[in-house]
This record gives sequence, C-alpha cells and structure tokens, in this order.
Amino acid sequence: MNCTGSVLRNYCMKCHKFYDAEYVFNSTGIPKCECGGIVKPDVVLYEEMLDEDTLENSIIAISKADMLIVAGTSLTVYPASGLINYFKGRNLVLINKDATPYDNIADLVINETLGKVFKEVNIWKKN
Ligand SMILES: [Zn+2]
Repeated sequence: MNCTGSVLRNYCMKCHKFYDAEYVFNSTGIPKCECGGIVKPDVVLYEEMLDEDTLENSIIAISKADMLIVAGTSLTVYPASGLINYFKGRNLVLINKDATPYDNIADLVINETLGKVFKEVNIWKKN
C-alpha cells in the first residue's frame, strides 16, 4: 500500500501517542494503543470541531489544489461551507446523497452515498 504517515496521522485518545497509518491498517478491528486506549485517526469526524491549525492547513491546501473532491457534506454547515470558497482550481467534484448549494458551480456532481461511490471506483482496492 502506498500510504504516508505524514498524511494519515493517528493518535491514542488516552495518552495521545501517535501512530502511523500502517499501524492502523494492519490492526484487526478497532486499533488499540499499548496503553489500552483507542487509536483514532487525526481527521475530522462527523460533528467534531476543527481546530484552528487544521482549518488553516485546509485553507492552504484547498487554495493550492487543482482538483477538489468534496464528499459527504451538504455544504450548508460551517466550516465546510466556507472552505469551498477558497478553491481556485479547475475541477470541483461534489459527492453527496442530496443536492448541495454548490452543484451549479461544480464540474462533476454525483448524487450518491459515499459508500456506494467508493465501492464503484474501487478507490481502496490494491492492484
Ligand atoms: Zn495510549
């Protein structure tokens, strides 16, 4: 698998020790820390707040991106709704079950659930 730990960071919810992506991929079931805590990916999960650094890095990444894929958000809730405005690239792709207010400016709109789309494109499948 071609994965870099710098992109996918994971940390223990108890002792905050960091683990690389490989550790999480290779664990069966919920990845656990040696202290017994749950190892959680350092990505934004549903209903969690973005911290300022994450938000700032997202803005930098989005404003430099040539292509932006926004998946699984109706784009009506802050901060996701604000972030899309920083995109200056060519290809905007929206994947969401329902229509979003940005559908008319997107280059590609897929009104499907995330699970179904990712299954179709085999995005996680190894060759
Ligand atoms: Zn721990």
